[in-house]
Amino acid sequence: MSIPITLESVVFVYPDGTRALDGVDLRIGSGEQVAIVGQNGSGKSTLVRQLNGLLRPTEGRVLIDGTDAAALHVAQLAAKVGLAFQNPDRQIFAGRVRAEVAFGPRNLGRADADVERAVDEALEAVGLSRTGEANPYDLGYSRRKLLAIASILAMRTPVVILDEPTTGQDARGVARVRAIIERLSEEGRTVVTISHDMRFVAETARRIVVMRAGRIALDGTPAEVFAEPNWPALASTYLEPTLPARVGARLGLVGTPTEAALVEAIGASRPVG
Ligand code: ADP
Ligand code: MG
Repeated sequence: MSIPITLESVVFVYPDGTRALDGVDLRIGSGEQVAIVGQNGSGKSTLVRQLNGLLRPTEGRVLIDGTDAAALHVAQLAAKVGLAFQNPDRQIFAGRVRAEVAFGPRNLGRADADVERAVDEALEAVGLSRTGEANPYDLGYSRRKLLAIASILAMRTPVVILDEPTTGQDARGVARVRAIIERLSEEGRTVVTISHDMRFVAETARRIVVMRAGRIALDGTPAEVFAEPNWPALASTYLEPTLPARVGARLGLVGTPTEAALVEAIGASRPVG
């Protein structure tokens, strides 16, 4: 199951007067797989917090599956939109890994057997199956981050949002996160990933939304966003397209080649002698 999300002229001002979102219009279709990028403080986390009712727009509207989110309680939104926090320690509260992951689906009123199955699958997906009885705070940061993701996966929401899921992950962790995104996407769910990691984004995302100072600066496929005319705009957001992304754009490729494919192509074209 999957649903669309729309933001209409959304402005968000924090109580201290910080205008974190300065008029955001964005439509994410049912089953789309989108990355949101932008420098620190550009408003990415504030934007996704509007989608599950953690924050409510100061101006403008958020529509979840066509319904104004203002008319939905946090509990109703939680059943539709799962958000894995940027900082896992603001999300995790249980004393055991399994209890942490079980909380969401149990809270949604799922039957015990369903909850157990969802917990097993979510822990398997993040590679924490053998850690179910551990205390989350005995895990290192990267595994607490994966636990926070598992808690959201277990809720099986039609929309899944991952805020900086690759932070602190080694190559294996990054590959896990990529596999999770691909699987959710194959299941037809709407997936929104926030990331700083341009290589990850170039290789994973089907659509990239670039934020700058609370607004959307660029929005398109990786080939469109990384196209040469956008390099100055990207540089102004301190985001540098990866070398394969730049080469792919210059060659007019639709997708971004992986680094390995690029090295192979360069090797094949090397003049003999
Ligand atoms: P990003 O996720 O892109 O790094 P954020 O959404 O966290 O950006 O922050 C956007 C802006 O809002 C920044 O200027 C940040 O300092 C500010 N901000 C974030 N959280 C708060 C808060 N709780 N109170 C006041 N300002 C905040
Ligand atoms: Mg953030």
